Amino acid sequence: MAIIVLPEEVVARIAAGEAVERPASAVKELIENAIDAGASSVRVESVAGGKQLIRVSDNGAGIPGLEIELAFKRHATSKLRATEDLEDLSTLGFRGEALASIAAVSQTTIITRHRDDAMGISLRLNGGQIVHQRPIGAPAGTVVAVENLFFNTPARLKFLKADRTEKRNIQGVVTRYAMAYPHIAFSLKQDEREQFRSSGRGDLADVVAGVFGRVHFKRMIPIESAGRAGIGQAAIAVRGYTSLPDLTRSDRSRIALFVNGRAIQDNALSHAVTGAYEGMIKSGTFPFAVLLISTPSDFVDVNVHPTKAQVRFREPSQVFSTVQRAVRQALLAADFDDYNVDQWRTDGFADGFTNETIDYRRPAPAFAGAAKEDFFHDADLGYIPESADAPAKPRTLPILRVVGQIGAMYIVAEGPAGLYLIDQNAAHERILYEQMREEQRAGSPLAEAASDSQTVLLSPEHDIVLGECAEVLSQLGFEIESFGPHSYVFRALPKVIASSRLAEGFPRILEHLSRKDKGIEEGIAALAAVAAVKSGQILSLEEMQTLVAQLERCSSPLASPSGNTTLIRLTREQLALEFRRG
Ligand code: ADP
Ligand code: MG
Repeated sequence: MAIIVLPEEVVARIAAGEAVERPASAVKELIENAIDAGASSVRVESVAGGKQLIRVSDNGAGIPGLEIELAFKRHATSKLRATEDLEDLSTLGFRGEALASIAAVSQTTIITRHRDDAMGISLRLNGGQIVHQRPIGAPAGTVVAVENLFFNTPARLKFLKADRTEKRNIQGVVTRYAMAYPHIAFSLKQDEREQFRSSGRGDLADVVAGVFGRVHFKRMIPIESAGRAGIGQAAIAVRGYTSLPDLTRSDRSRIALFVNGRAIQDNALSHAVTGAYEGMIKSGTFPFAVLLISTPSDFVDVNVHPTKAQVRFREPSQVFSTVQRAVRQALLAADFDDYNVDQWRTDGFADGFTNETIDYRRPAPAFAGAAKEDFFHDADLGYIPESADAPAKPRTLPILRVVGQIGAMYIVAEGPAGLYLIDQNAAHERILYEQMREEQRAGSPLAEAASDSQTVLLSPEHDIVLGECAEVLSQLGFEIESFGPHSYVFRALPKVIASSRLAEGFPRILEHLSRKDKGIEEGIAALAAVAAVKSGQILSLEEMQTLVAQLERCSSPLASPSGNTTLIRLTREQLALEFRRG
């Protein structure tokens, strides 16, 4: 559509406003123009928080040479014709005011070539007045350079914040649009330093991870709620990412909301998002969230706010409840196996643990009289006896305080993040495996001479496996002599196998090895499996403490060598949630 100056009656219906309050708002308008022009790549540069220079370059359709002057007239737009069009906008812009108002308060240069034009055009304005205009060779697309913003409105200039703040605002605008439009490649350079870049490959997860950082992104879960409409309701769909309850901030700045591709600010809506975390996060803290909300276009009135940062919904409560439900459902459905265990490594340390700062011997705090909050935050420093010669291996889990045992199978422990359940068998298997691997790597013997010469009778099948595994068995430290048909006597045994358990244990080792590679790792895993504490075995408090303390220093504490889960964690938030939901 060609650019026209809107008729009076349409202008009268448009919410008037000053679109350019600060550098970031100019950046926002220019980005919106690039998106409306169908760009697949948008480059933003700024100098001095946008006060000296803002430059936005796109590879969109460009502006026809004949229309370039018109583009800088107030209420001149190619995106709107009549009042009715306001009901059904498919573009971000519609008022035809941005270029005019930006140019009025700056020295603006535009270089643009419409994709159907042979030549491009360059136009320079000073305080809104055209300085010169000339044809120029240029790639299809548009570059708008805004220099010395507010140079002729000193009062406005004075109200700008420190460069640092303006830079942050600009970054906020660019990253928001990058998240709303993953198919567009955005880049941001401020003061000659590249600050952000998105690939334009269309992968929302990728962009969100780029914006919030990979570590934070690992603590975010996807939201996908299809827009099913109830009777008399509009189809509202919500998708995006929201943080697990343990990733929060003290302000709302990490809640990014978009409605039909428009970045909006809406306190009620961000309240709806935060409300979904009720009972999971402390009041006064806010989640990270990126929510792309789509509604039928006539469901939203965008013509209400000068900077288009707010919209009006036809049925606000329907939108809020749809969004809150989508977030809440995602949170409740988040199977913590999906995330806790997966991201344990970063997590354990994020709980505040580093090797240097732990005082192992600090006694457990007195719980009586302590405020509830203190209880949760300090309880992690429970007293754990460690033998003097414990190897100084790095801690991979927070210190856990053993509470008890259930079902003669699981150790119950408390840690900084909540409740931990440890499968005693899987955990011990892991511990033994790592201990033996270490000894074997260090070249120290895994075996010792058998105290009494035990004879073991093998089945014919086991006898065959024994022949196949002779090498690994001897690496493990078994010294075995034939003693008649299928019968063997043991001169030396791995230390972890008590000779009293040999008759039962040795065939099980062979069984393990018959199913696996017959390398030393498998051999050690088989030994660990056979030697580990079994489910059903009642453990003393001390035994449990030792086991847990050892697990805390395993390099892979979360699974047994055979892949079974060693521990699961219920966070405080999950517990709180369970109890409040009842
Ligand atoms: P609006 O976006 O509301 O139409 P603007 O003042 O932002 O008003 O832009 C005026 C017109 O200039 C637009 O309608 C569009 O036709 C043209 N225009 C502005 N920026 C670009 C751009 N980057 N690429 C192509 N056309 C543009
Ligand atoms: Mg515009």
